[in-house]
Amino acid sequence: TNPLLEVSDLHISFQVDGGEVQAVRGVTFALHKGEMLAVVGESGSGKSVTALSLMRLIPDPPGRIKQGKIMFDGKDLTKLSEREMFQIRGSKIAMIFQDPMTSLNPTMTVGRQIIEGIRWHQQTGVTEAKEKAVEMLKLVGIPNPEKRLTQYPHEFSGGMRQRVMIAMALACNPQVLIADEPTTALDVTIQAQILELMKKLQRETDTAIILITHDLGVVAETADRVAVMYGGRLVETGGVEEIFADARHPYTWGLLDSMPRLDLPRDRHLEPIPGSPPDLFSPPAGCPFADRCPHAMNICHEEMPPVTQITSTHQVFCWLEDPAAPSVERKKRIIG
Ligand code: SF4
Ligand code: MG
Repeated sequence: TNPLLEVSDLHISFQVDGGEVQAVRGVTFALHKGEMLAVVGESGSGKSVTALSLMRLIPDPPGRIKQGKIMFDGKDLTKLSEREMFQIRGSKIAMIFQDPMTSLNPTMTVGRQIIEGIRWHQQTGVTEAKEKAVEMLKLVGIPNPEKRLTQYPHEFSGGMRQRVMIAMALACNPQVLIADEPTTALDVTIQAQILELMKKLQRETDTAIILITHDLGVVAETADRVAVMYGGRLVETGGVEEIFADARHPYTWGLLDSMPRLDLPRDRHLEPIPGSPPDLFSPPAGCPFADRCPHAMNICHEEMPPVTQITSTHQVFCWLEDPAAPSVERKKRIIG
């Protein structure tokens, strides 16, 4: 089946004093109907910028989509006028952010915000929109929805506010929901509940979800597929089992090693990857991870690694997968 959304060779830059920050450098991926794709990477990897570009929310200037296509519904979103984009944003592709307080209006009741949101995108009367709002709050597990609609955002807890955001985003039945670090500000228990809710909604509504996160831990239980980003590039993509059981990229290994583990003593578990991400003001010619990679070879500093197709669903961009790479590097990893 055709993908719902297809991003190819996307490049996004920001003009800054004295030059250009190349935030996204040639990203290609597809999103299928009803699936949950997790985009994982540390801050500055380009994951949020990629997500914003799908909504055409990159502030221009200073940002600009320099190259590439974003195909959705037979249209290239990078080519649409602001007016055409207006028909898509919020109604066909919706987005939620880390902190719902920045997206909710503190001076308006939650009900009025949801109802206005619905009527903004759909031709419905107030009564009908209100019924829909009640239905949406029920769907996201907010008890007592009629009463809750009359309350203001500050009367909701952090987790409940995020549920409200999800309800608002899903009220127009979008085909794609983008969630940028939706649980990062919440405590662990609430975080798990919100992820579970998103998973449930994905199944029930058939909405495709792009979950942006820096935390590989939230991915295991939630995502169908994973795309790992580093230095403005994708470094590995695969099914969730492929990433957890058969990761091939040293950066993905680093992320997996730094995940909290129950089978190790407390003082042994977190091993963050030493070093810092590349300077995207003058990005390296070779592998973006070369300066931090314990397996880096000469070629890694000189040439961008090509893509290797491990399976039909698993791709990696690393010279270690090149047939000419010293096999010792690969064995080292397997033996551990
Ligand atoms: Fe490490 Fe080289 Fe692979 Fe980059 S291409 S991740 S530097 S081994
Ligand atoms: Mg971000």
